[in-house]
Amino acid sequence: MRDVALLPETVDRLIPAPSELQRMADEHLAERGRTAVLAQVLLVIILGAGGSFLHTVPAAFACLGFSITILALTRFWILTGFTGGRWRFQWDPHLPLRLNIGAAALTWGVFATVVVTNHPVSHGNTHLAIIAIFAVSSGAIATTIADLHLLRFNLCACALPVAAGTLLNGDAESSILAFGIACFTFFGLIQARSLNCCYWSGLKNNQLLQSKIRELEQARAAAEQANQAKSEFLANISHELRTPMNGVLGMTALTLETDLTAEQRDYLDMAQSSAQSLLALLNQILDLSRIEAGHLDLVSEPLELQSVLDHVRITFLPEVQRRGLDLEVHLDPAIPARLTGDAIRLRQVLLNLAGNAVKFTEVGRVCVAVILQHLDAASATLQFTVSDTGIGIPADKQRVIFDSFVQVDGSLRRRRGGTGLGLAISSRLVETMGGAIAVTSSPGNGSTFRFALTLPVHSSAARDCRVHLPVLPAAVSTTSAA
Ligand code: ADP
Repeated sequence: MRDVALLPETVDRLIPAPSELQRMADEHLAERGRTAVLAQVLLVIILGAGGSFLHTVPAAFACLGFSITILALTRFWILTGFTGGRWRFQWDPHLPLRLNIGAAALTWGVFATVVVTNHPVSHGNTHLAIIAIFAVSSGAIATTIADLHLLRFNLCACALPVAAGTLLNGDAESSILAFGIACFTFFGLIQARSLNCCYWSGLKNNQLLQSKIRELEQARAAAEQANQAKSEFLANISHELRTPMNGVLGMTALTLETDLTAEQRDYLDMAQSSAQSLLALLNQILDLSRIEAGHLDLVSEPLELQSVLDHVRITFLPEVQRRGLDLEVHLDPAIPARLTGDAIRLRQVLLNLAGNAVKFTEVGRVCVAVILQHLDAASATLQFTVSDTGIGIPADKQRVIFDSFVQVDGSLRRRRGGTGLGLAISSRLVETMGGAIAVTSSPGNGSTFRFALTLPVHSSAARDCRVHLPVLPAAVSTTSAA
């Protein structure tokens, strides 16, 4: 544990307790200890089948088989006490477990020493024993990486007796082999420290990351909850404010119908227009908070695009005439007369986009167009476009204008007022209907907002004859003469 690398102070409070890290290390040791001892049992079987140990060193091989079996059973028994990441023994199992692991390494070391001292270097049994020693030593590195002392002991117990035994044979080949095994052990011992350091800092960082993720998840859940509470509060309060506002508007309208002096009429007109602005703002806040609280339900009813577009046209006609603008409203004649959708919400989106287009255009034209993109028996995909020749929107602002309360700066924009909520509401409404609003614009060259929606064709559409429907021509161009 002392080898764990220090982490920046800012994350110190997130660093898991040493006991928690030790628990993780125990978990790894338990997991790998099980696999390692099973691998050792398998190795004994392989040696028995592949070598002639039962003939050449029967007592040593029997001892190896017996010891590894006993150690495997004991290790499994000790590890059954490790459940749910905790030891359930009254006593501390760490020392017995480590003794068990160390004893297994020593058993292999002793067995291989007996083999090398009883066979020449060129004998197949010697080769098998050396291979077994390398395998057990490498396994020991993986199993005991968390415990530097145990790791070092395992390497030494496994390899050094063999190196010594081989050296005792006295011949040149044995000396070379002994030197090779000693080098392997030496480098293993040098690497052990850094491997152990890496293990603990990796464990610590991993735990740190986990607790950071947990903390972020909690923060996100809390933020979402707070946002939901805010949206619900806004939805409730806006609803409560609308009722008295309607009262104010109604009473103002009634008062305006009575005998008033010109001055009184002026004041009341101003009061009425302020109340209307306030009511419009309240409606927008109510809409946005409803959408954010997930309480906005779209209705599915017969929808006549012609009347939606007529409404848009009639709404802006007086203003475009007064300001000398062109207003074009175009409905693709190929679109079925009756579709299914939420006419009021679709109208709200188009009113908002067209309202902005009119608001931010000084000269030129505003065009609202609906084009058929695809039609089949069940549905029609329509492309809605609202374009203008107005002041345009800088590229860096084209994404943020869809956020709540965002307005692009500029004197004309300031003069025209607004809340910065219209596009936020419109884009969410279109998303709820299954589309997405996109904008293309450049300063001074106007803006084009477009979105596509797929709307079911209303069952009565087939029977409808379009010539009965239009109150106004499908494409209207209105130029103010004023
Ligand atoms: P509001 O118009 O009430 O301020 P919106 O959310 O509808 O709020 O629009 C946000 C901002 O996007 C506007 O304030 C304006 O700066 C910019 N904008 C929207 N439509 C246009 C347009 N057609 N031309 C230029 N600027 C626009």
